[in-house]
Amino acid sequence: MFEALSERFESAWKTLRGQDKISDANIKEALREVRRALLEADVSLNVVKDFVADVQEKAQGAEVVAGVAPDQQFIKIVYDELVALMGDANEPLADADSKPTVVLMAGLQGTGKTTASAKLALHLRKQERSAMLVATDVYRPAAVDQLITLGKQIDVPVFEMGTDANPVDIAKAGIAKAKADGIDTVIVDTAGRLQIDQDMMVELENVKTAISPNEVLLVVDAMTGQEAATLTQTFHDQIGITGAILTKMDGDARGGAALSIRQISGKPIKFIGVGEKVEALQPFYPDRMASRILG
Ligand code: GDP
Repeated sequence: MFEALSERFESAWKTLRGQDKISDANIKEALREVRRALLEADVSLNVVKDFVADVQEKAQGAEVVAGVAPDQQFIKIVYDELVALMGDANEPLADADSKPTVVLMAGLQGTGKTTASAKLALHLRKQERSAMLVATDVYRPAAVDQLITLGKQIDVPVFEMGTDANPVDIAKAGIAKAKADGIDTVIVDTAGRLQIDQDMMVELENVKTAISPNEVLLVVDAMTGQEAATLTQTFHDQIGITGAILTKMDGDARGGAALSIRQISGKPIKFIGVGEKVEALQPFYPDRMASRILG
């Protein structure tokens, strides 16, 4: 996924190869390449500007280190900044003191929200944390059926009230049932639309107010490039998210969303989706991602 980005970065390092130290003059071209690399990868413009400014400041303040070539020194600066941009360390899913931990899943239709809900439930089960899925997409019977099917596949209970009930009532009843059953974590799957839509936002806000979730995870499709940044901004401003799951990281997206989400919302990516199967979910590690990006 990051081949193009890695190649572009390679051109940035090249401009410093053979120099004896980093200087204001020779860093200009390298910074220009870094900027180009990030923009081509669909990283949001404001994020790119801040990132390049930070790298420039660090590079200009860098001391000459004996035995370390300037290109290696510059790579280390970019690497550290990439890790910082993505949030330094993995941030695990909340684990509330009083059961159940409530996770509200938000996002547009088709991003992989329902699949991610099931993947998360399986991930928790593997950690000996019991989970329950709650189906609140009352607009699409197929969405409820999809969750039921996935629940069976991973042996996790699915709470549903069909499509005649209201999402707030379903979510509340689901959590009450989970509490009665001693379930550790409830994952509430919500309705998405193809585009951001006021009705969807109001409904989501109502559900959020009614259930006070410990986590509001925005599911973002990595394939959507720049739109991922706008989506994150809108959901965070209107609903308030606590983190994101970036799906379809196995595809051939240019990867910019991975770098924009944290800067835009101040909230971390907690997991990435790397395939259609229910097992295809991984915790997000900024350092591993930065290494992948640098190739
Ligand atoms: P929802 O409408 O947001 O609930 O989306 P779904 O969970 O129904 O997923 C939409 C499509 O994306 C389905 O075909 C999923 O199999 C696929 N999908 C979801 N997550 C991933 C992922 O991480 N990688 C790939 N390649 N496909 C995914």
